Amino acid sequence: MIGRFVYHHPVFDKNAPAAQAGHEEISGVNRTHYCGVYWAYVFHEDGRKSALAACKYFGKRL
Ligand SMILES: Cc1cc2nc3c(=O)[nH]c(=O)nc-3n(C[C@H](O)[C@H](O)[C@H](O)COP(=O)(O)OP(=O)(O)OC[C@H]3O[C@@H](n4cnc5c(N)ncnc54)[C@H](O)[C@@H]3O)c2cc1C
Repeated sequence: MIGRFVYHHPVFDKNAPAAQAGHEEISGVNRTHYCGVYWAYVFHEDGRKSALAACKYFGKRL
């Protein structure tokens, strides 16, 4: 055993929906892109969706 780690699902607070709605506003500004499941419901498919949204800016798609 090289380490022990504790993982938790994120718990969104009441401000989360408003923050998530600001994705388009901040992502891509100064060539900085924000990608992660936290932009949606924190499931694997949200990660895929978020990655594809970031890739779109680079002209890449699957
Ligand atoms: C216990 C558990 C069970 C789960 N089970 C399921 C499931 O059954 N089905 C499902 O759909 N989803 C599940 N999930 C959710 C799924 O794991 C996550 O949705 C997904 O892994 C998150 O991907 P992400 O790339 O957005 O974030 P992460 O996988 O958290 O990746 C973020 C990365 O950024 C790095 N990082 C953070 N801060 C910095 C920094 N300042 N500089 C550089 N790097 C940084 C971190 O080290 C990490 O590698 C589970 C999650 C947990 C914790």
